Amino acid sequence: MMDLFEQARKYLLNIYKPFPIDVDYGKGVYLYDKNGRAYLDFLAGIAVNALGYQHPAIQQALVKQINRNLHLSNYFIQDVQVELARELVQQSGLSKVFFSNSGTEAIEGLLKIVKKWGREHHKSEIIAFEGSFHGRSLGALSITMQAKYQQSFLPLLPHIKSVPANDAQAFAKAINKNTLAVFYEGIMGEGGVRPISEDLLNAIYDGRDRFGYLVVADEIQTGVGRTGTFYYYQKRKVMPDAIATAKGLGGGLPLGAFVLNEKLSSVLKRGEHGTTYGGNPLACATGLATVKIVKQPEFLSKILATGQYFKEQLEAFASQYPAIVKDVRGEGLMLGMEVGEKAPDLMAECYKHGLLFNVAGGNTLRFVPPLIVDKTAVDEAITKLHAIFAGIFK
Ligand SMILES: *Cc1c(COP(=O)(O)O)cnc(C)c1O
Repeated sequence: MMDLFEQARKYLLNIYKPFPIDVDYGKGVYLYDKNGRAYLDFLAGIAVNALGYQHPAIQQALVKQINRNLHLSNYFIQDVQVELARELVQQSGLSKVFFSNSGTEAIEGLLKIVKKWGREHHKSEIIAFEGSFHGRSLGALSITMQAKYQQSFLPLLPHIKSVPANDAQAFAKAINKNTLAVFYEGIMGEGGVRPISEDLLNAIYDGRDRFGYLVVADEIQTGVGRTGTFYYYQKRKVMPDAIATAKGLGGGLPLGAFVLNEKLSSVLKRGEHGTTYGGNPLACATGLATVKIVKQPEFLSKILATGQYFKEQLEAFASQYPAIVKDVRGEGLMLGMEVGEKAPDLMAECYKHGLLFNVAGGNTLRFVPPLIVDKTAVDEAITKLHAIFAGIFK
């Protein structure tokens, strides 16, 4: 009999590099393997498990919805979906919500809206930033400006201009009256936990005033409390025309959405966009449970405080390993420690020692723990990092 890992290699497309851990269940901020070994989980399903594992509010919402229906389709008005849309409108300050099953699909829908709006306003060029990540479908991939993701699939969508990240001058040169839209991440996640600079952010929003293009904030990773405000743009006191949100939104179930301002809410006419599963009631039920908890001011301020504490600990850690740690970046509970090309090996050493996270941008250890994480868990992670680094570098 083949073991699980052999079977996975035999039957699954070989495009991921899974941890060699046979997970049984999760509880709080820990995962447990089938031998009962605990792993402190600072990956959280790639910033998805906002409330950790087995959160009672998620479980109750799920059980309640399971006993009603699993799926109806958008031929029906669904109460949990409407309630979640109302929450997202209230939290974002935008006007209308469309639900999808993933972040990529939210970006795809936004690209369609942007393109249609561009036809009406005689603008065609979309700007995205080097190192960005917006998804892997052909549309979303067209604005994911990383050669390793794009090169095998060229040509992609036309009229896309790539601008160096955090270069406000290059950006100012790139925009003109033909600029249709700018897609940006407040903190590049996949690109290596890189916050957008004040200069570039100002240039994006000033340019909008001048040329009248659309600004789309990809909040798929930064959203739903991750950085200590419900959405990251709120921290930076700007107002995009549209946002994409996903990852933490479903509290563990696949759920994405885009949220539009009033001006964009009437661009798509009936039948021009749609989805079979998007806004599925199970995902909306867990999403609603998640949002109701995350939006609480005390919950958000705890994310800020724990994130600040975590960042300070990482900075103190970094000062002990100046030859290895090049930078500590990020906000709230979206933090990165740049360690260069050793990153994948260090990550592997960490999961062997019971600490899970992943590598972003090829050189940065990315920490996106469940938002319920506390200082004790942060201390445990830092203690493990010390033990692991001391074992390797001393
Ligand atoms: C994860 C991610 C996406 C893609 O979302 P999926 O749910 O994987 O389709 C897009 N943009 C950003 C910023 C992301 O972090």
